Amino acid sequence: MQARTIAILGATGSIGTQALDIAGRYPERFRVSCLTAASSAEKLFELVRRFRPDTAALNTEPDRLPEDVRFCQWFFGPDATVRALLAAKPRDALCAIVGIAGLDAVWHALDVCERVLLANKEALVTGGSLVTAKAARMGVPLLPVDSEHSAIFQCLQARQGNPVKKLWLTCSGGALRSWKKQDMYAATVRDVLAHPTWRMGGKITVDCATMVNKGLEVIEARHLFDMPAEKIGVVIHPQSVVHSMVEFEDGAVLAQLGMPDMRGPIGYAMGFPDRLPYDATPLDLAALGHLDFAAPDHDRFPCLKLAVGALKRGGSAPVILNGANEVAVAAFLRERIPFGRIPEIIDAALQSVPAGPVASIADVYAADRAAREYARARL
Ligand code: NDP
Ligand code: MG
Repeated sequence: MQARTIAILGATGSIGTQALDIAGRYPERFRVSCLTAASSAEKLFELVRRFRPDTAALNTEPDRLPEDVRFCQWFFGPDATVRALLAAKPRDALCAIVGIAGLDAVWHALDVCERVLLANKEALVTGGSLVTAKAARMGVPLLPVDSEHSAIFQCLQARQGNPVKKLWLTCSGGALRSWKKQDMYAATVRDVLAHPTWRMGGKITVDCATMVNKGLEVIEARHLFDMPAEKIGVVIHPQSVVHSMVEFEDGAVLAQLGMPDMRGPIGYAMGFPDRLPYDATPLDLAALGHLDFAAPDHDRFPCLKLAVGALKRGGSAPVILNGANEVAVAAFLRERIPFGRIPEIIDAALQSVPAGPVASIADVYAADRAAREYARARL
């Protein structure tokens, strides 16, 4: 077997490093040909030494470029990721940059890659049908990396042409799942980053605590699986063992289960259609004893409804939701605003920033700028 070339965009992050763990286990399958990060220069140098890509990129030029990483072609600056990707022309690209900052990379990966492995949900929340239409036009599959969407994608392999009645996304409930409403407003960064089941980057961990993450995932599912919002349900499942489900017309519900470990869905996308063993903890249902499910509490977690509302409104509303959320979450992580301000800022942006049609990527960026300006002024 000839190793497939793969770019890992956002290589120093939570998803990126776990993808490299898988790639490192299967050198005969994967040749990492492009590695990128924003500013974690030392971390990226280490990865470059180990994986020896053709190209590498950082958004900011480091003070020094060590001699032993100079064998590859380096790119620096705000569009360095895309330039490194286009120069490497890998067969696959794992898009694991966080936020709308990753949209450009997804967009260009669709030009040069055979497959796009998508962790960067914000690219789909904001780029929406522009991204899926381009993927279809270019004949490039978008393989989900997000665990819920990977679960649905895996269940859909058994579909055999049958119509789907409903998609069910499971949701851990985040770090504040059992908090009282009156305590949530002042939850600290430390409280919020203590996610019960998953270890992830800071932004998505905050998104889980507000549950905007599940809203972003409903929007992501809408685009990935071409399902209307009404046919996408959310159920709280604190153990994160049932990763999501597909309901068919005869009432049968297929689910994908496993211990929470992102290397499962990452490896599934990387190896698709093959399953690549790694040192996964086996699922022991008897030891777990029980799995719990509950309906989401929209009173304590208003962001889920805000996101689904934005999806139903359409046009640039999801872009506004996402832009306001990115600004609010960054401010919360810098301890500039309390946790409770995050949903307030998103809600206010959705009410105040005019939403319009989105016909091009330029429209997406214009709506994002307007949402960010508004949200920054509200901090
Ligand atoms: P991290 O914050 O851990 O990593 C983000 C990566 O992107 C880092 O390599 C970072 O580089 C790079 N990056 C950040 N900003 C930019 C930018 N402006 N331009 C170029 N590169 C940038 O995030 P995660 O790995 O947690 O998440 C990545 C994506 O995957 C997100 O969209 C998230 O929603 C999604 N996802 C993550 C899951 C998880 O388990 N972590 C689960 C499901 C989905 P640097 O280190 O230099 O900052
Ligand atoms: Mg997820």
